[in-house]
Amino acid sequence: MKAAVLSLPRDVSKRPLEIREVPKPQLKPGDVLLRVRACGVCRTDLHIVEGELPPHCNEIIPGHQIVGEIVNPGTSDLAAGARVGVSWIGGVDGSCWFCQHGMENLCDSPTFTGYSLNGGYAEYAIARADFTFPLENRLDDLQAAPLLCAGIIGFRSLRVAEVRHGECVGLFGFGASAHLAIAVLRAWNCKVYVSTRGASHRQLAVALGATWVGSETESPPVKLDRAVTFAPSGDVVVAALASLRKGGVVAINAIHLDRIPEFDYDRLLWGERQIRSVTNMTRSDARDFLQIAAEINLRPRITVFSLDHANDALAAVKNDSIDGAAVIVP
Ligand SMILES: [Zn+2]
Ligand SMILES: [Zn+2]
Repeated sequence: MKAAVLSLPRDVSKRPLEIREVPKPQLKPGDVLLRVRACGVCRTDLHIVEGELPPHCNEIIPGHQIVGEIVNPGTSDLAAGARVGVSWIGGVDGSCWFCQHGMENLCDSPTFTGYSLNGGYAEYAIARADFTFPLENRLDDLQAAPLLCAGIIGFRSLRVAEVRHGECVGLFGFGASAHLAIAVLRAWNCKVYVSTRGASHRQLAVALGATWVGSETESPPVKLDRAVTFAPSGDVVVAALASLRKGGVVAINAIHLDRIPEFDYDRLLWGERQIRSVTNMTRSDARDFLQIAAEINLRPRITVFSLDHANDALAAVKNDSIDGAAVIVP
């Protein structure tokens, strides 16, 4: 089968993914074999490909927003031909303290699709049957792909920030994840304040119902109840913190941050403001979000790339040169 393979992480401008033929993956007990119909591109893929996340394997096929059709259900009771989604969380041990306490997103021995296991930048992929999510017919392949990490993690960020209906919520950065989170916020009657770089991202935020839109250096005109940051930048976290009311929460939706600069505790954190990180996802986050996405008819803004152009898709995410999400079709 054809796949995009990473062996030496380096800057995406050096085209680190090699598009070539590799053996079709072999099923282990509990796995299903999927024919990949579409695979979303996530910023985390960029961190893997460029080496900000340390490699787990000598060679890896990235991609963890897989829309696949079950070709071989293996020992599972899933039906051949069914369409399922696969996300970043490829599996957990089920036995550690975190798994036993309803926090499988923090499992001590997780596997990650497209990082510790081969992912979806390929014609075929395998996944643990119990870590696949059924996809409703009303979610088509291309539209469903970006929901599977960008969407689920964006939704988990709203949960971590404890957003309540009708609140004022700041989104700092407006890429794949934020442009899905805003749809959920609008469905919850929240007022959404977006600070982001790039005129086209600001236009998209307005089109999707933002109450206020500014550049990455501008502060929202009101004190926010909640904020979510999406940029891999600690400066943005401090900017978000500075825009919160007392008792407000910033949730950091980033697997990697450059650093957090020194900031003034008395002015920015005192008053029971909180900074929280968003780490991975649980299967119930995935199921709950996919349900809401279908109900509100969430339609991600997408740009399609062929598998041969996987490096270009990553470059587009890195350079913020597309609006919404990139999706690879093998
Ligand atoms: Zn565990
Ligand atoms: Zn992701």
